[in-house]
Amino acid sequence: MNKLPEVTLRRGEHDRIVAGHPWIYQSSIQNLETPVADGDVVLAKDFRGRVLGVGFYNSRSRIAIRVLAQEPVEINPAFFERRILAALELRRRRMPEATSFRVVNAESDFLSGLIVDKYEDVLVVQTSSLGMDRRKAEIVKVLQNVLEPRAIVERNELASRKFEGLPDSNGPLAGELPGKFPIKLNGISFEVDVLGGHKTGLYLDQQTNYEAVGRMAKGGNVLDCFSFLGGFALHCARAGAANVFGLDQSEDAVKAAEANATTNGLSDRCKFTQANVFDWLKERSHTPPNEKLIPPYDVIILDPPSFTRTRDAVPNALRGYKEIHVRAFKLLKPGGVLATFCCSHHVDTPTFRDVILAAAYDTRTILRQTAIFSQSPDHPIIPMIPETEYLKGFAFEKVR
Ligand code: SAH
Repeated sequence: MNKLPEVTLRRGEHDRIVAGHPWIYQSSIQNLETPVADGDVVLAKDFRGRVLGVGFYNSRSRIAIRVLAQEPVEINPAFFERRILAALELRRRRMPEATSFRVVNAESDFLSGLIVDKYEDVLVVQTSSLGMDRRKAEIVKVLQNVLEPRAIVERNELASRKFEGLPDSNGPLAGELPGKFPIKLNGISFEVDVLGGHKTGLYLDQQTNYEAVGRMAKGGNVLDCFSFLGGFALHCARAGAANVFGLDQSEDAVKAAEANATTNGLSDRCKFTQANVFDWLKERSHTPPNEKLIPPYDVIILDPPSFTRTRDAVPNALRGYKEIHVRAFKLLKPGGVLATFCCSHHVDTPTFRDVILAAAYDTRTILRQTAIFSQSPDHPIIPMIPETEYLKGFAFEKVR
């Protein structure tokens, strides 16, 4: 192995890295051996000179070093192959039936800066660090060997790339992309557009929750708010819901969800409408004085987009979360189930729960908590890396 440029951290800055967090900030660096170019691999040491690990360096990013391994290993195709195989083994163990899933989830799989999604035999790659972006060709080769995909595309228009000095870049990296194509989640077919859709096509992180929520919907009248491609709606319909109604403000999403319902033979029980959920819920939950609202739904699903990308926007986001919960409680039958999710990293589980309870208080609703949800196992949570945990959810029965 060639001698690597060494970086020494300030006293007291090594604990987090020893604990397994991969980010070394510019402000933690005491001394940097030159010459070192952005995107190069460096050897990080604590203030006493003990090895902390090897990682990609970038002077332009606030995260100066992204540690890839705590041992001084060579960062080469064999390294990427080991990490990718380990990530695959985890998915095969925890989601043995899944054919579409996140193969590599960056920090969650000890590959900071790399995301790989598998949509049947098409792979979508995102590289959000300079070092990782430079090694795209190597990584593509490894992925070809390990997974033999029909095509590999990159979906690199992430805000985080700007912090690394990287431009947007979208398009094929290998093979022939078939355009839109069908994929399966839990045996239900969804049409995905890996170059045009949300994230890298759809929300893989809800895969296990779709099934769990579906099981709560049997025989019921279901409202799926923020339905996108119909993930929750279709799973509820297949599980035997009597009627499912999905709401999304995007016309494209509504059309795609309708098409998915038809493909899966569920269109008789599954309808979608284009609407702003806030307005729609407000209109339906409003009652003139002296009139009583008869709640129509057995199951309501709330899975909004992240209302906050930054810490500053949290108070506003919480008002939004509270409002939709107040409305949902009014529209939920006693004995009915609310399945509710929050995908904002800045709103933690206790805060989210408090908002729900405040909405329950305002509507004089008594709740029984019946399930706690998290992200699917292909988005592993590494407790020492808090950023890896973002999706949380609950199911509550409305006792009265
Ligand atoms: N439940 C979905 C994911 C929802 S993503 C799934 O499992 O796949 C968020 C969706 O909310 C997007 O489709 C977006 O178009 C929609 N959306 C965002 N704000 C909205 C609003 N105010 N009213 C209705 N839909 C909204």
